[in-house]
Amino acid sequence: MGVTIDVKNLTKKYGKVTALDRVNLTIQPGEFLVLLGPSGCGKTTLLRCIAGLETPDEGEISIDDQVVFSAERGISVPSGKRRVGMVFQSYALWPHMAVYENVGFGLRLRKIPPKDVRRQVDKVLEDLSMAGLGNRYPSELSGGQQQRVAVARLLASKPPVFLMDEPLSNLDARLRLDMRSELKRLHYQLEVTTVYVTHDQTEAMTMATRVVVMEGGRIRQIDAPQEIYRKPANIFIAEFVGMPRINTFPAKIFMQNGTCWAEMDGIKIPLPWIPAQKEVRAAIRPEDITISVNPLENSPEFQVYAVLPCGPEIYVQVKRGNRIIMIRETRQLDLQMDQPVWLKIDPAAVNLYDIQSGLLLISENGKTAEQPTKGGNK
Ligand code: ATP
Repeated sequence: MGVTIDVKNLTKKYGKVTALDRVNLTIQPGEFLVLLGPSGCGKTTLLRCIAGLETPDEGEISIDDQVVFSAERGISVPSGKRRVGMVFQSYALWPHMAVYENVGFGLRLRKIPPKDVRRQVDKVLEDLSMAGLGNRYPSELSGGQQQRVAVARLLASKPPVFLMDEPLSNLDARLRLDMRSELKRLHYQLEVTTVYVTHDQTEAMTMATRVVVMEGGRIRQIDAPQEIYRKPANIFIAEFVGMPRINTFPAKIFMQNGTCWAEMDGIKIPLPWIPAQKEVRAAIRPEDITISVNPLENSPEFQVYAVLPCGPEIYVQVKRGNRIIMIRETRQLDLQMDQPVWLKIDPAAVNLYDIQSGLLLISENGKTAEQPTKGGNK
């Protein structure tokens, strides 16, 4: 079972750039926590601060009960004594050492007898299906094999914390998918507290027990992947997570016959709750919109702009005026360019955001408060 990592009020500046801005985070034992965000948001800096490779300006970091960094108390435990293992995007293998020596490097540093080093290295190479490659040098390995050596080195030294910085981004798409499964299985078997950095939202969603979304050195949301996807805390996260991208619209809120409605680009949907704002930004995932080839009461007419078949589903773009809406359909619809269509939106799947702050609006009684609705967008 892994250990707890506690990060309190962590700030790190590089000159005028604030890479981390008062970050607070508790990573639970055995968690697979993914730090996600666009380039430059501070993910790597946070990971490196936990590893002891960067010195923060303010704040505190504890690993289990040990304070490994405290700006106030002048504590900074060196990286080698923090019991963390790292895998980098570059793999950082020693080019002049064969696989055996690379994987056993940390064990030799700890003065473990050569016989035991050999036994442990053999075991991890076997576990990672690399048994025959011990005598090869990194230059004699493929990218995927080098990546495995880096993971083998991490596993051999058995640290209670795994820190991984974009470990799969140099691999081709297929290998990346295979390695995701392998890392997930390893995590399932070992239950080691893992912090994993990526800017790839699919990777984050598929691997994480919880995702931390960062922007501008700050944490914007910490949640289970499905919550991040279904209830993004702000419009930035809504647009960052999900492919194809979420549709966003300016929307007007109004009451009619006792029902609260949102109208966006002429489409009207009854809302399951009554927001205080009269003008909001609505966000709807492409799979929460369905296409009708027959007129619908609460939808104006759109034209098919493009049809993009993707195997089991099709992406359809429809147009009205200047607005293009993306729809993800699992039905194999036979649609023609410029054909008139109408749209139906699942009201329960619509998120509303404050226009000024960009924050998700939730009802006073919680996210699921309901109002009685009369009819729908049928
Ligand atoms: P990426 O996905 O591109 O690796 P990131 O989210 O990991 O990005 P960081 O590498 O943590 O971002 O960088 C955060 C900010 O700090 C960026 O503006 C970056 O330019 C800056 N920064 C990081 N390291 C240094 C450094 N050694 N010197 C100066 N500025 C730095």
